[in-house]
Amino acid sequence: MQQNYLGKVEVLTLAEDDKELKGACACGNVKYKIEDKPLFTQACHCKNCKLSTGSSFVVHTMVLEKDFLISGDVASITLPTGSGKGYNAYFCIICGVYLFCRYNVSKGRLAIRTKTLENPIEPQAHIFVKDKDPWIEISRKDICHEKMYDREKTWPKESLERI
Ligand SMILES: [Zn+2]
Ligand SMILES: [Zn+2]
Repeated sequence: MQQNYLGKVEVLTLAEDDKELKGACACGNVKYKIEDKPLFTQACHCKNCKLSTGSSFVVHTMVLEKDFLISGDVASITLPTGSGKGYNAYFCIICGVYLFCRYNVSKGRLAIRTKTLENPIEPQAHIFVKDKDPWIEISRKDICHEKMYDREKTWPKESLERI
């Protein structure tokens, strides 16, 4: 099922100040910005993320949907997740770059594909390390999790208070 993004859409100019986090797709049709601090950034090495990216892992930055502004047309498709609830991945309709997604279990939040940001953020956790490709070596062993982490113990307190 294809559908368009139904969140906040506006025409963005990218000459704005640098306090906001900004990003774009490869062709420049889609631009977005995040108006407040992101909640958490994580790398996921699970099989679903490998397939949807065609690569060894994804890096996602979680934000509140109310802080997210986008211009340019995106299309979306519903894909399966381990929980069975599924998620919607959003793509630029011209170049096909996958920019963000919404997990159906995470109401009011979006996961931005971190590397589409102008100033990408370093992951605060690596998850599903049990499925990690053998040629990837993670130096930060202290932030690795075999599967999913316990959010209450892993996210900063100020982020937990905002969701
Ligand atoms: Zn594009
Ligand atoms: Zn994953």
